[in-house]
Amino acid sequence: MAYDYDLYVIGAGSGGVRASRISANYGARVAVAESTYLGGTCVNVGCVPKKLFVYGSHFHEEFEDAAGFGWQVNAEGFDWPTLRDNKSREIERLNGIYRNLLEGAGVDLHEGHAQLLDAHTVSVNGQTYTADKILIASGGWPSVPDFPGREHVITSNEAFYLPSFPQRVVVVGGGYIAVEFAGIFAGLGAQTTLMYRGPLFLRGFDNSVREFVAEELPKKNVNIRFDTQVERIEVAAKPTDSQHQEGQGEVRQLHLNDGSVVEADLVLYATGRKPNTQNLGLENAGVALGKGGEILVDEDYRTNVDNIYAIGDVTDRIQLTPVAIEEGMCIANNLFTDQPKKRLNYNNIATAVFCQPNIGTVGLTEAQAVADYPEDLDIYESTYKPMKHTLSGRDERSFMKMIVRRSTDVVLGVHMVGPDAGEIMQGMAVAMVAGATKTQFDETVGIHPTAAEELVTLREVSRQA
Ligand code: FAD
Ligand code: NDP
Repeated sequence: MAYDYDLYVIGAGSGGVRASRISANYGARVAVAESTYLGGTCVNVGCVPKKLFVYGSHFHEEFEDAAGFGWQVNAEGFDWPTLRDNKSREIERLNGIYRNLLEGAGVDLHEGHAQLLDAHTVSVNGQTYTADKILIASGGWPSVPDFPGREHVITSNEAFYLPSFPQRVVVVGGGYIAVEFAGIFAGLGAQTTLMYRGPLFLRGFDNSVREFVAEELPKKNVNIRFDTQVERIEVAAKPTDSQHQEGQGEVRQLHLNDGSVVEADLVLYATGRKPNTQNLGLENAGVALGKGGEILVDEDYRTNVDNIYAIGDVTDRIQLTPVAIEEGMCIANNLFTDQPKKRLNYNNIATAVFCQPNIGTVGLTEAQAVADYPEDLDIYESTYKPMKHTLSGRDERSFMKMIVRRSTDVVLGVHMVGPDAGEIMQGMAVAMVAGATKTQFDETVGIHPTAAEELVTLREVSRQA
C-alpha cells in the first residue's frame, strides 16, 4: 500500500526533530506533528532557559567575590523582567532555527495535537495522514502529587514565565529540577527553602556527592529541610505592603508533617515527570504501556506494534536531551540506511546537575560498584578549596571522587562537585568510554592551575571497598 509518508513523527522535541531531519536527509518522506512548541522541553522549558537562569543567578556572588580582587561592585538591582524576557527572546530565536532545520531538510511540519487512529494513520487538526512507520517522541510533563492545596503550586513549566519575582520560595522535591531551581531562586535573591521527603536528596547519585552537596547548598543560601512532607497548602491574604510580589497579594501557608507551618510567596513542585501518553490514541493501535504510563520498547526502540517506535522521555529511561537525540540518530540510521545497525550504549553517559556548585558525574556510583565488584575497589577522594576563593574568601569547597577496580585498574566512576563540573566531566566521559585505566589517568600530564588537573593527580587511595 502507498502511504503518505515513510515516517510520521509525533513530537518535535529533542528526539523527534533529530529523527525527522536525519531520516529526511537519508531520503525518507517525513512529517512531524508538534502541538506546543518547536524544540520541545529542552529548548522551551528545560535545559536552555534553565541554563540561562543559572548564568543569571551566579552574578550576585561574582560581584561579592570581586571585592577580594580589588573591585568594588554594587550587587543590588536585579531586574527579573529583563532576565525573563531576554531569555524568552532567545527561545523564540531557537524556535525559528528549529523550524528552518525541519523545512531545510524537507520535513512537513503539522502544527497541532496528533492522535493515532490505527497503526498506520495519524490525525492532526482534523486531517488524516498515513505512514509506513510511526515514531512517538512526545516527551514528558511535570507530575504533582494529589494533596489539599495542590492548585496553589507551580511546576518548572511556569517558573520560566513568572509575572514577578517572589521574595520567599519553597521548592519541593530532591531531584535534578529541585536542586537546580533552588540554586536559581537563591542566587537571584529569593529566600529559598528546599523540602525533600527523605533523609538525603539526589537519590541515584553517588552518596558522597549527595552528602557533599547537602553541605554546600546552605552556604549558597538554600535552606534545606530533609524528612519533610507537605500535608496541605492554604492561601491567605498578604499584608498590603507586599502586594506587588508573586501570588497577587496571596501568601501560601505550607502545613508540614512535623506540625509546623512555613509561609512562601511561591511554591514550586519538582516531583518528577510523567510520560506524555494521554490522548495519543495509543489504544487505537494497541501500543503497550508500562506501569508508569511509559511506552515500552525493545533495544531498537520498537514497541509491541511492529511499525511503531518510541524514543526519549516518553519511554521513561534516561531523561536527558543528548540521549533522546542519539536515540533519534539510531532510528534514522536503522530505518533508512543500509549501514550497520546502531544501538546506543547506555553505560558511561555523563550527566551534570547545574546546582551551585555543579555536580558532574560519569560511570558507576560507589554503591553500584560495590554491588558489581565487592572488595575489589580502590576509592580516591579529594576535597579542596577552589583557588579563586583563596582571595574571594568565600567558604566553598569542591569534591572529586574516582572509583577504580583494583584487579583490572579500570576506572569505573568519576564524580565531582564544583565549578564547571559539567564541563570537566565531558572529557572524563571520553576516557571512560575508551576504557581508561587509573594508570593512564596517572600518566596524563595535568593542566596547571585548573580544577580538572586534580583528576590526574589523585595518588593516594582514600579507602578500599
Ligand atoms: P520533548 O523534548 O519533551 O519533546 C516532546 C514534544 O512532543 C513536545 O514539544 C510536545 O509538545 C510534543 N507533543 C507531545 N504530545 C504531542 C502530540 N500528541 N502531538 C503533537 N506533539 C506532541 N536534559 C539535559 O540533558 N540537560 C539539562 O540541563 C536538562 N535540563 C532540564 C531542565 C528542566 C526544567 C526539564 C523539565 C528537563 C530538562 N532536561 C535536561 C531533560 C530534557 O529536556 C528532556 O530529556 C528532553 O527534552 C527529552 O526530549 P524528547 O524528545 O523525549 O521530548
Ligand atoms: P527526578 O525524578 O529527578 O526527581 C523527582 C524528585 O521528586 C525526587 O527527589 C523524588 O523523591 C521526589 N518526589 C517524587 N514524588 C514525590 C512526592 N509525591 N512527594 C514528594 N516528593 C516526591 O525528577 P525531576 O522532576 O527533578 O526531573 C525530571 C528529569 O528531567 C530528571 O530525572 C532528569 O533526567 C531530567 N533533568 C535533567 C537535568 C540535567 O540534565 N541537568 C535538569 C533537569 C531535569 P524520591 O527520590 O524520594 O523518589
